[in-house]
Amino acid sequence: MAIPFFKEMRIGGYLLKQKLLGRKRYPLVLMLEPLFRCNLACVGCGKIDYPDAILNRRMTAQECWDAADECGAPMVAIPGGEPLIHKEIGEIVRGLVARKKFVSLCTNALLLEKKLDLFEPSPYLFFSVHLDGLRDHHDKAVSQKGVFDRAVSAIKAAKARGFTVNVNATIFDGHPAEEIAKFLDLTVELGVGVSMSPGYAYERAPDQEHFLNRTKTKKLFRDVFAMGKGKKWNFMHSGLFLDFLAGNQQYECTPWGMPARNIFGWQKPCYLLGEGYAKTFKELMETTDWETYGTGKYEKCADCMAHCGYEPTAATAALNNPLKAMWVSLRGIKTSGPMAPEIDMSKQRPAQYIFSEQVQKKLSEIRKDEAAAAQAKAAQKASTAA
Ligand code: SF4
Ligand code: SF4
Repeated sequence: MAIPFFKEMRIGGYLLKQKLLGRKRYPLVLMLEPLFRCNLACVGCGKIDYPDAILNRRMTAQECWDAADECGAPMVAIPGGEPLIHKEIGEIVRGLVARKKFVSLCTNALLLEKKLDLFEPSPYLFFSVHLDGLRDHHDKAVSQKGVFDRAVSAIKAAKARGFTVNVNATIFDGHPAEEIAKFLDLTVELGVGVSMSPGYAYERAPDQEHFLNRTKTKKLFRDVFAMGKGKKWNFMHSGLFLDFLAGNQQYECTPWGMPARNIFGWQKPCYLLGEGYAKTFKELMETTDWETYGTGKYEKCADCMAHCGYEPTAATAALNNPLKAMWVSLRGIKTSGPMAPEIDMSKQRPAQYIFSEQVQKKLSEIRKDEAAAAQAKAAQKASTAA
């Protein structure tokens, strides 16, 4: 998921307004997951491991718009699952653009060329194409040959039609820095912006071997950024977030910065970690025990350096210290010398495992809904016959 709007003035205005209003916690990006079904099964994905009854569920267009209104964030990212599978995706995006939300539609691009007619180019709409690296690397990451070529073809087609396209790459252990640098060169050739984030160690991801720990992440990003000096890589991140990835900033995450809404409700505490659900955005903000999450506080957060937790922290840091942000952008990312001290991990609370419980709860709700719908249908049939 690319976050181009961090480069826009409007986000600065939004942040400033929240600061002036004295708000402690506020959302920057709504992570809207209207479905979990996907047409790929990537080894690092922690989003698609649900029974069919859940994968077949969709949020309605109205539910999507209500979530955007309720949350009020200036940007809506639509990951999934694969949003282009959703039959109402064109309508959902139109409604969000009409609300003047910046929309980042995250897609693996398998259906993008075919579905371009559903959308209109707009300064509010960005396609964020999942591309984890060069051809062999990407096809391996998504467990299917030919996906890289289709994604690149779709990127070119979308750009030719006047759409803004960015790519988003999830970085895993074992991806050599030189290859990442070549991949970033390719994004320049394609004329697209790029966002990169270390993969979050989803407990449900089939491949548990290749998630980066914090030390490896910082070293890898330093190596990559060192190779980028003088190049024109167009990152869709704030300079301070990149500086954080390179180990030069010690940040705590901002889990409420990118709240997630999906078929379960509002996910506690963040897009990456499902530890319960709230019915409304207000309930999410008021009932989540925010202090118990984050690196150093909770085992599942130990290695997280993902953009959705730390980009909002970097954005707030830039607002509070614009000179530092300016200095980083002028100087570039420091790729040698001592790193910022690491957060103390000695007091983190142990992980809790509640995935199955949540799935069972949702399945029984679905069964109840289906039984009620069947009953209503039977009653209507009976009254028509009478
Ligand atoms: S394309 Fe995205 S949602 Fe689909 S399996 Fe891959 S990572 Fe998961
Ligand atoms: S560190 Fe923050 S963003 Fe990362 S999983 Fe934990 S709560 Fe979520």
